[in-house]
Amino acid sequence: MKTVVKCSLPGCDDYAVMKVAAPWKDGSHAELNTYGYACPAHTEDVVAYAEGRAKAYRLAPGESVGKIGTVPLANA
Ligand SMILES: [Zn+2]
Repeated sequence: MKTVVKCSLPGCDDYAVMKVAAPWKDGSHAELNTYGYACPAHTEDVVAYAEGRAKAYRLAPGESVGKIGTVPLANA
């Protein structure tokens, strides 16, 4: 079964083609922290939204977040 992901921008109902994410690390544990998904028209908007969220987020000691970027969705 294929999962359909929609754009994260409020009011947009288009299918997402990009994942907006940043590498996140907490001590020895690392993963990709997903902020949202973007359709082709809203990639920059969703990145800006993610950057605002990342700025508002207080890092705990030992936590670090890398630069936010876009990752193409595999099945897009
Ligand atoms: Zn959109």
